[in-house]
Amino acid sequence: MSETIFSKIIRREIPADIVYEDDLCLAFRDVSPQAPTHVLIIPKEPIASLSDLEEKHQALAGHLLLTAARLASELGLEGGYRLVTNCGGDGGQSVDHLHFHLLGGRALSWPPG
Ligand code: 5GP
Repeated sequence: MSETIFSKIIRREIPADIVYEDDLCLAFRDVSPQAPTHVLIIPKEPIASLSDLEEKHQALAGHLLLTAARLASELGLEGGYRLVTNCGGDGGQSVDHLHFHLLGGRALSWPPG
């Protein structure tokens, strides 16, 4: 897949407010937060979207979800939170590197627009 801004964040070529990192993933605050807490959780492997996950990514996918839940707890989102991934054009995806939005810190409405 082609290079995205998130590849540059992984390589520290552009700055980001990183809240967590391990061998498989990186989590950093969204530059345009839509809630008091808005963190993006991404795999270091450049997978374009949820639709591009393959069987070989099963452990990685689980790791991303478990990391999101742990970060929600560590970031104090006891009141609840939302984890969402936008997929493709109609899904509202603007960066073609798989990412989960972790949103919390306010009451979130449903359905999304
Ligand atoms: P999407 O629209 O693809 O679901 O989400 C992409 C997210 O990446 C958006 O919420 C957008 O604000 C965020 N974003 C785009 N460029 C940057 C950047 O350079 N740094 C950070 N921290 N977030 C970014």
